[in-house]
Amino acid sequence: MNLSDITIAGARASLDAKEFSARELTDTYLYEIEKKDKDIHAYLEVWGKEARMEADAADATIARGESKPLTGIPLAIKDNILIHGRVASAASKILENYVASYDATVIQKLKKQGAVFLGRTNMDEFALGSSTENSAYGPTKNPHDLERVPGGTSGGSAAAVAARMALAALGSDTGGSIRQPAAFCGIAGLKPTYGEVSRSGLMAAASSLDQIGTLGKSVADARILFEAIRGHDDLDSTSLPDSLLTRVKPKKIGVPRKFLEKGVDADVLTAFEETLTRLRERGYEIVDIELPSLPYSLAVYYIINPAEVSTNLARYDGIRYGVRADAATIGEVYEKSRSYGFGPETRRRILVGTFVLSSGYADAYYRKARAVREVLRADFASVFNTVDAIAVPTTPTPAFKLGENTSDPLAMYAEDIFTVPINLAGVPAISVPMGGVNREGYDLPLGFQLIAPHRGEATLFAIGSDVEKA
Ligand code: GLN
Repeated sequence: MNLSDITIAGARASLDAKEFSARELTDTYLYEIEKKDKDIHAYLEVWGKEARMEADAADATIARGESKPLTGIPLAIKDNILIHGRVASAASKILENYVASYDATVIQKLKKQGAVFLGRTNMDEFALGSSTENSAYGPTKNPHDLERVPGGTSGGSAAAVAARMALAALGSDTGGSIRQPAAFCGIAGLKPTYGEVSRSGLMAAASSLDQIGTLGKSVADARILFEAIRGHDDLDSTSLPDSLLTRVKPKKIGVPRKFLEKGVDADVLTAFEETLTRLRERGYEIVDIELPSLPYSLAVYYIINPAEVSTNLARYDGIRYGVRADAATIGEVYEKSRSYGFGPETRRRILVGTFVLSSGYADAYYRKARAVREVLRADFASVFNTVDAIAVPTTPTPAFKLGENTSDPLAMYAEDIFTVPINLAGVPAISVPMGGVNREGYDLPLGFQLIAPHRGEATLFAIGSDVEKA
């Protein structure tokens, strides 16, 4: 079994043809994890025993001829997605002992298909960060260079797939947390349209931005997993009605050139231009577009995100949820529990969020940011009247070194420049590998990001597969 080449579709065919069993496949991945994860630290917990049991059940289903696309497929799950009876900590100390009391809707769907859950993956605490260094349990390393970050916040999921320690993975993306680590680790990562995948059972970070999505070795794998988890859910009030994923033939791709002029690594720009050239050779028309509000998106995001985070994290107070500190008064319980439980970046977001929502400042910051967000949405909508998709690099730089941005939160936030606008607009986007650069003797991957209109995932898969072929 060659783990490097195996895809979900390939594994499906081999499992159904009984070339190997689901148990063998799972054992192979568990062995890889044992071998490599000491160095990479993609997983916070590996469920070896349960995974083998799930694999045996999958083999029985396959033997009955009843397999579905993901029956027996070994997956990694980000630590902010609930699986009944298992710890889910969002990589936070405040939830170190929290055992989920129900399955997230996406997990229910995967269980119905007989997927195998290998373990829960490391992340930035509560999905706040861009490097997976904000985990309370230590950082994950980039499999391409162990001195570099895998990206964040779904860095554990991305590193697990890239290092062949899972066939595919679930992540969540609030401002780039699937696409950026996918780019840094050299795999495909999809952030679906807001409302396309149920958020029930995803720990809320910023509810108007959060979306569960998929990471795979190829666009096809990200798609298969997406098809398994999408669909309307009554448990999520922002869930969209069911729709068909049709075949499309997109032709025209827009590039916001002006926005690429500043702050982008020269090698990233070269790889981006080469990818555009190859797409042109495959018959695509590449045109310049304007998205005048794009330069404001980081500022808008870093107001709206903390505002919603500070509200959502209020529930972790040692009473309703989370570790409870010993204290004499209720006020002290809150103070001590939250001081013990939250890391520095989480506190920073709570403070900024509380400030921008406070009376006297809410108009100047939060409401202003929401108004600009509407302008940004309208800008995207009008551009999509003229092009099928928009392309930008996923990140302005290749993977940076561990510790490089930790003392400068603004430098860390700047890494999100190309990903946060998409969450603000609520549209879908995918990161697909686009070659790489050499840094200090290591080949580092880069990501090409495609953005489609609302519910335009089919467009992303069509162009994404052409980027892979190009
Ligand atoms: N890096 C962004 C942030 O820190 C996005 C994180 C995410 O998508 N969860 O908020």
